[in-house]
Amino acid sequence: MCIFCKIVNKEIPSNIILENEEFLAFHDINPKAPVHILVIPKIHVKSFNEISPQTMNNVTKFMQDIAKELKLDKSGYRIITNIGEDGGQEVKHLHFHLLGGAKLAWTHLSDADPKGMF
Ligand code: 5GP
Ligand code: ZN
Repeated sequence: MCIFCKIVNKEIPSNIILENEEFLAFHDINPKAPVHILVIPKIHVKSFNEISPQTMNNVTKFMQDIAKELKLDKSGYRIITNIGEDGGQEVKHLHFHLLGGAKLAWTHLSDADPKGMF
């Protein structure tokens, strides 16, 4: 069983923000911003590549609710999902990073020439 499935099953403790039948939101153990929340489906979905449009539809509302609850909807925030090798996905259970609580950096994300491909 993967580490996030264990968090869903409460075999590994987590600091939960919000939960419903389909999703769980909890604090990232190694935060990269003052607010760093992970949002995951309770069923094991490997990455964004595998998420169904229906689940994506439902997670949208779930994340909007979190943003409102934490008053990030006014100040702004960022949603990231890393996918596969190049995306830098370490945990192979789909998760959305919800980051905020301060002005976030936005810089080059790789050493490769950003104009190289087109
Ligand atoms: P990825 O690199 O796969 O997009 O992100 C994985 C995230 O999961 C990382 O930000 C990492 O800090 C977080 N993480 C890994 N293991 C645990 C854990 O056991 N508990 C919590 N709360 N976060 C974790
Ligand atoms: Zn899993």
